Amino acid sequence: MENTEKIDILSLSRDELTAELTALGEKTFRAKQIYDWLHVKKVRDFSQMSNISAQLRDTLEKKFCLKSLIIKKKLVSDIDNTVKYLYGMPDGESVETVLMEYKHGNSLCISTQVGCRMGCRFCASTIAGFVRHLLPSEMLLQIYETERDSGRHVDSIVLMGIGEPLDNFDNVMKFLSLLNSEGEGMSLRHISLSTCGIVDRIYELAEMKTGLTLSISLHAATDEKRSSIMPINKKYNLEQLMTACRDYFKKTGRRISFEYSLIEGVNDTEQSADELIKLLRGMLCHVNLIPINEIRERDYKKSRYVEKFQKRLAAAGINATVRRTLGADINAACGQLRRDDGDAHKAVKE
Ligand code: SAH
Repeated sequence: MENTEKIDILSLSRDELTAELTALGEKTFRAKQIYDWLHVKKVRDFSQMSNISAQLRDTLEKKFCLKSLIIKKKLVSDIDNTVKYLYGMPDGESVETVLMEYKHGNSLCISTQVGCRMGCRFCASTIAGFVRHLLPSEMLLQIYETERDSGRHVDSIVLMGIGEPLDNFDNVMKFLSLLNSEGEGMSLRHISLSTCGIVDRIYELAEMKTGLTLSISLHAATDEKRSSIMPINKKYNLEQLMTACRDYFKKTGRRISFEYSLIEGVNDTEQSADELIKLLRGMLCHVNLIPINEIRERDYKKSRYVEKFQKRLAAAGINATVRRTLGADINAACGQLRRDDGDAHKAVKE
């Protein structure tokens, strides 16, 4: 049984850990050694910290908990080498993480919450509702465990798995700072954060000038259409969202990426393209067109007009690319991740 009173040691920054150890009467170099075990050697157990005395390891065991994830399921795509993990946590919950291979390296799509409360109509991650936020350690562990299991190095991260990252703002920011400063030392330029549009948090993120790429899940360019598929639009409408995006660009100098999943008959007509052109006119941005991935609970269909839509945007001077669908045979594509065991019929590969 996990003791909830224990401190989650993997979520601590180097300074926080040093302060904890100093309070225990330890010298600062001990904190450095322990940090190294946690974030460079990535041990799963205090007992593996071989240059730490048995007595101190015992104290650590009593005061801190060292979280870990277990692989409950692993699916490997036959098409493109994408790997989807279902990771289990000690409280019995699970999340999915997807490892994707691109020309420029390996990218890991990580989850930020168990479930999601945003309610986007086309997305599988929200169907079973929201359970809880993930801790910084649980986000880091998705990287550590995936690297350990796959033997592949993760070069970039996309916060596009289960959950809404800006709905778990403090934990996500802490995770990013750990990722940036500790073992992985990853530049935040290699991170993309995707949001359905929590406007207040976009302003906050802009102030932090992290250097990450902000992706906005747009999917429709009028309030009427967007509100019908994304409930968040009723709270923050398109005008508020676009004003926040312009502010983000002004403050960070980072071009925004807009995600637009094309759904047959809903947002894929010439009129929809023209609405999008009007909305984005004059903005330095990039549009990522995603043929909608079908999910079993909804009857949204993939659009047949993806190329046509792209050409219309391009003709109006809007930079748009079609996102390659990875891991389609293992339900690992955008919007298909869920926290249940719903793919039990698929074969598990060793
Ligand atoms: N909550 C965040 C990140 C998770 S979703 C967000 O909303 O941005 C990652 C991307 O996949 C988002 O752009 C999301 O809108 C999109 N998406 C969700 N369901 C999809 C589906 N069925 N087909 C294609 N894209 C989908």
